[in-house]
Amino acid sequence: MQLNEKQLEQVNKQIKRLIESGSYYGQKYKQLGITGVSSQEDFEKLPFSEKNDLRNAYPLGIMACDESEIVRIHSSSGTTGTPVIIPYTAKDVDDWATMFARCYETAGITNKDRIQITPGYGLWTAGIGFQAGCEKLGAMAIPMGPGNTEKQLKMMIDLQTTVITATSSYALLLAEEIQKRGLRDKINLKKGVFGSERWSDKMRKRIHDELGIELYDIYGLTEIYGPGIGINCQYETGIHYWDDYIYIEIVDPATGKPVPDGEEGEIVITTLVKEGAPLLRFRTHDLSRIIPGECPCGSKYPRIDIIKGRSDDMFKVRGVNMFPSQVEDILKLVEGASSEYSITIAHDDDNNKDVMLLTVEGDGKYDFDLMAKKVIENFKALIGMTPKVIIVPIGTLPRSEKKTKRVTDYRNV
Ligand code: ZN
Repeated sequence: MQLNEKQLEQVNKQIKRLIESGSYYGQKYKQLGITGVSSQEDFEKLPFSEKNDLRNAYPLGIMACDESEIVRIHSSSGTTGTPVIIPYTAKDVDDWATMFARCYETAGITNKDRIQITPGYGLWTAGIGFQAGCEKLGAMAIPMGPGNTEKQLKMMIDLQTTVITATSSYALLLAEEIQKRGLRDKINLKKGVFGSERWSDKMRKRIHDELGIELYDIYGLTEIYGPGIGINCQYETGIHYWDDYIYIEIVDPATGKPVPDGEEGEIVITTLVKEGAPLLRFRTHDLSRIIPGECPCGSKYPRIDIIKGRSDDMFKVRGVNMFPSQVEDILKLVEGASSEYSITIAHDDDNNKDVMLLTVEGDGKYDFDLMAKKVIENFKALIGMTPKVIIVPIGTLPRSEKKTKRVTDYRNV
């Protein structure tokens, strides 16, 4: 999808802002002789921006305005090394809330709803984003933050929460608790807005079945405002994103070349009106594709597919490349397998080969040995390698309030 005239003009302005402010990227563009863009061709010659740049510019090197205009910073979780800091102006904060409110509206949520917010508050962009969008919409925010399941359930019942917002793994934990305690009749949940990690169809189906709610996937990342830059509508035909604030291109992760609409690749995002920390051609490492054509909902906003995984999630065992999403596809074919699994990879020194252990939760209605056999068969047929498989009862694997870690690799420690 090409930049339209207005977007091109906006990108041009973002470049001017970066250069005038003498920010990290402004200096970089100056060195490269970049002064602006006037065509798609120019745009595609702009260098990518990367998380690593943001680490190099730590703490505030990417700031592209006077510090007096900055009203808040956020930081990405930074599981490895230096964290990343993103400064926001008052307009950035307001734009983000507007986008988030639009997400709620797209999910059919109104100012009559009561939204229980369980993602974390603080440096992370999650909790406060869900809250600001809720207030912008005029709905009632119930700002719980993460954890304390006991209190979550009490508030959910006492206040008759209609919308739950959570990471998908925490939503699953809550769904399981509600079922275990037989609280389904006491709650009034209608919709769930979930974000921040990719989740399998199986997990989606379990949350849907156990809570009886409509599910919405919200998309976003700290570097680009936070969650709220896109969401699916009720037709579940991908994620509508707000192209008046961001421009999305899909590129081949290996070559960096844009791929045609409809083809899978890495999402690269350009902010169009950001003031505090504009980012041009930011590589997200999220894998998706542009969905061509119009959505039955009639929305004018373009769509990307549900995030398939991350280009850096790929793991390699005995020469075979795999993504967690492929493992999920295999588990979908096995009756009795739940959505929860974990993968452990290690090197067997005695036999000098890599071993992969796949632990899968079984719902207890099917024989565990037969299930393991089935998983192995499918693995052999579809991926071309054979893991060791263990089936364990539901609830054995840890549930997380943040992102669930699926793959643990002991080979390089
Ligand atoms: Zn739609």
